[in-house]
Parts: sequence; structure tokens; C-alpha cells
Amino acid sequence: MLTGKTAVVTGGTRGIGFAIVKKFLENGANVAIAGSRQESVDKALAKLPEYAGRVMGIWPDLCSPEEVAAAFASVKEKFGSLDILANNAGISSRTSLYDYTVEEFSRIMDLNVKAVFVCSQAAARIMKAQGGGVIVNTSSMVGEYGQPSGCGYPTSKFAVNGLTRSLARELAKDNIRVNAVAPGVTRTDMVAALPQELVDRISAGIPLGRVGEPLDIANAYLYLSSDLASYVTGVTLRVDGAAMT
Ligand code: NAD
Repeated sequence: MLTGKTAVVTGGTRGIGFAIVKKFLENGANVAIAGSRQESVDKALAKLPEYAGRVMGIWPDLCSPEEVAAAFASVKEKFGSLDILANNAGISSRTSLYDYTVEEFSRIMDLNVKAVFVCSQAAARIMKAQGGGVIVNTSSMVGEYGQPSGCGYPTSKFAVNGLTRSLARELAKDNIRVNAVAPGVTRTDMVAALPQELVDRISAGIPLGRVGEPLDIANAYLYLSSDLASYVTGVTLRVDGAAMT
């Protein structure tokens, strides 16, 4: 579904991002894994020996326009284009408002929102020049419902939804589609570390009766990144088993 396309996946070293990387590679794309450190990127690359030649690593500071532009230029130079940007890197916390520091709020907003803006701008410049492209952002179910602690995280995901809708309208004329995926509770390292009894309790509150798997989210990324979604832009697609908490 993505043969001949080149994708950058931020936060592609583990969790949902790594599942997106694998899904894109399985579907024929060239992929650049963007991580925070060379060591974690190298570790992820070492798990993909069968795709050597179609996968590379980059580790720019995602909030630095200069570093991101240089890294994306190196991707275009290696593979010939940059067609898909998966803005997936994100961090969360559950700190109470009474203990929340401005530094923590800024840290969350920097990676979850500012980096999405910086990476989208750098990618859009390349995509516009080459005639089009696709951007897919990672939102969250809490970007619709909020959450009862850790206010910075849901705030950042509401912002991601706004950026998605706005950039979709602004970039449509350049043949760039912009969408988001909003996962529910998904079995990444954090969820895998919870006691099974707690995971069972969470699952019981989800109409589809289970937490999401990274593959469930990666499949949505594949759809939105492919030509199957050629008339879909400005959408935040919920992939949460109809969870509402
Ligand atoms: P994770 O912690 O397993 O992975 C996060 C990824 O982001 C890692 O690859 C990490 O290296 C990268 N990252 C962290 N800080 C970075 C930085 N400064 N620069 C570059 N990369 C950085 O998390 P995950 O659960 O796979 O989450 C991925 C995305 O999905 C996030 O945006 C998260 O908000 C969203 N999400 C996750 C869930 C869930 O239940 N897991 C639910 C809703 C939304």
C-alpha cells in the first residue's frame, strides 16, 4: 500500500511508533525512525535486519527547526522523497494540578505540540515542493474527554486536534492531507507493566472488551497514510474500542 513512499516516524523506537514503523515497512515504504537518542534508534534498527536498506535512523531535537530540517533533508537525500510524516512522539504525566510545575507543563507541550508544529512545517516545505504528502498526528482519547489529573497531557492532545484540523485546511491546496489518530488505552510498555488484574478491570470498561494493541493503532496509520484515504483530511480518527473515560 505504500510502495515507493518514504515516511518519517517520530518516537519510532518503541511502543506505538515502532508498530507504525513495522507496518509501513511491511507495506513497502522506506522509513526513517526519529528517536531522541542515537542509542535507542540503533536498538530499534537492530530489530529490523530484514529491512536494511529501506530503513534509517535520525535523532534531531524535534523542537529545533534547524535540526529537524537538516534531518528531513538527509531522509530525502537517501530515499529521494518525504511523503509521509507520522508525528507520534509524545510524553504524558498524571501530576495533580497542585503539584504541577511550569517546567513540567512546558516539557509536555514542547514534545506533544511544539514538535508537531516544527516537524509538520519542515515536512510540508518538502512535500509542497514535490507535489504533495500526508501528515498523521497522534492524539489521544483524552483529547476528547480530558482526564482527572495530569492536565498538561490532555491539553496538549486537544491542541494536536486543533493543529490537525487547521493544517488540513491550510495545506489542502498543496495536496497535503493532515489527519490524526486518537488511541485509547494501548498495550505499550507502560500498560504491559500493570498488574493483569488492573488491565482486566480497564478492559471491562471498554465496550470492545480489551485494551488496544499497538498494531490496532498502526493499522489506522496505514489507512490514513495510504491512497485509500485520498479524500480524508482534517479528521481525528478514534481507535479506542469506544472507550469513554
Ligand atoms: P512510549 O513511551 O512507548 O513511546 C514514546 C516514543 O516517543 C518513544 O519512541 C520515545 O523514544 C519517543 N520520545 C520520547 N521523548 C522524545 C523526544 N524528546 N524526542 C523524540 N522522541 C521522543 O509511548 P506510546 O504509548 O507508544 O505513545 C506514542 C504516542 O501515542 C504518544 O504521542 C502518546 O501520547 C500516544 N498515546 C498513547 C496511548 C497509550 O495508551 N499507550 C494512548 C493514547 C495516545
